[in-house]
Amino acid sequence: MRAFYSPDYVVDLRSHAFPTAKFARTAERLIEGGTLRPSDLVDPGAVQARELEAVHDAAWIAAVFDGTLSLEQQARMELRWSPSLALAHRKCAAGTLAAARDALSGGLGVHLGGGSHHAFAGHGEGFCVFNDLAYALVALREEGAFTRAAVVDLDAHQGNGTAALLARRPGLATFSIHGAELYPFDGSGTPSRSTEDHALPAGTSGAQYHKILRERLPAFLDEAKPELVLYQAGVDVHSGDRLGRFSLDAEDIARRDRFVAEEVSARGAGLVVTLGGGYAETPEETAALHAATVEETVRAYKRKD
Ligand SMILES: [Zn+2]
Repeated sequence: MRAFYSPDYVVDLRSHAFPTAKFARTAERLIEGGTLRPSDLVDPGAVQARELEAVHDAAWIAAVFDGTLSLEQQARMELRWSPSLALAHRKCAAGTLAAARDALSGGLGVHLGGGSHHAFAGHGEGFCVFNDLAYALVALREEGAFTRAAVVDLDAHQGNGTAALLARRPGLATFSIHGAELYPFDGSGTPSRSTEDHALPAGTSGAQYHKILRERLPAFLDEAKPELVLYQAGVDVHSGDRLGRFSLDAEDIARRDRFVAEEVSARGAGLVVTLGGGYAETPEETAALHAATVEETVRAYKRKD
């Protein structure tokens, strides 16, 4: 199987909370563990400005491409602009789209990046520049690749950008389980509502988390009837995460990932796994969790051939 990844995802952000070294380490761990061969890694290339207009404002795209973002715009996305930052995020959007094409043809698509769920039409926030999830779904739907699709966002933070970009688009639904008191609900993020939102308190245990997931996700999938599901599999739900507040351990996250893969494949839908957030003490610890997500998803997803 192949997975979309680019060395360009690693951008020097200095001592930023978001260590992009985790992307390279995740790819390396999957190769070390035998899930992927080096030749399975495919660079998705970079999206062009006009392609991003499917979901983003032309002015925002131009400012990111040309490096003319104001200090205020950069502060809002909590990232300092550089040519390499712009390239990384253009490739990130291309990677989720390419993985979604794999999922539509073969059942499962893997992107060792992606999940920029806080990017809005005309601005970025929360470390997100372009919304790869919304972009992939809107672009593919315009092509007629499917009629109905969904985003299942289990990152610790609510996917406010995805929710806003996909709202009022027929056939596209969003599901999110997230921390009730985290960004964007802490007053610093732009509010928006997913088709289905579940806000859980700080300290939520694996058992409590699984109860909600098992009660709500199957019903959501039955209602939305997606042919394609983009999974934002953020691992900042881990108890050791510096930005999350939940108390899930690695096995709780593995159970979560297996459940999503099984529920989606049981309904005959394609599945794309994107990494999403993860801010453990070291990039190595974060990469171990992301790699485990990919391994669990690949193992649990039943291909439709
Ligand atoms: Zn997050």
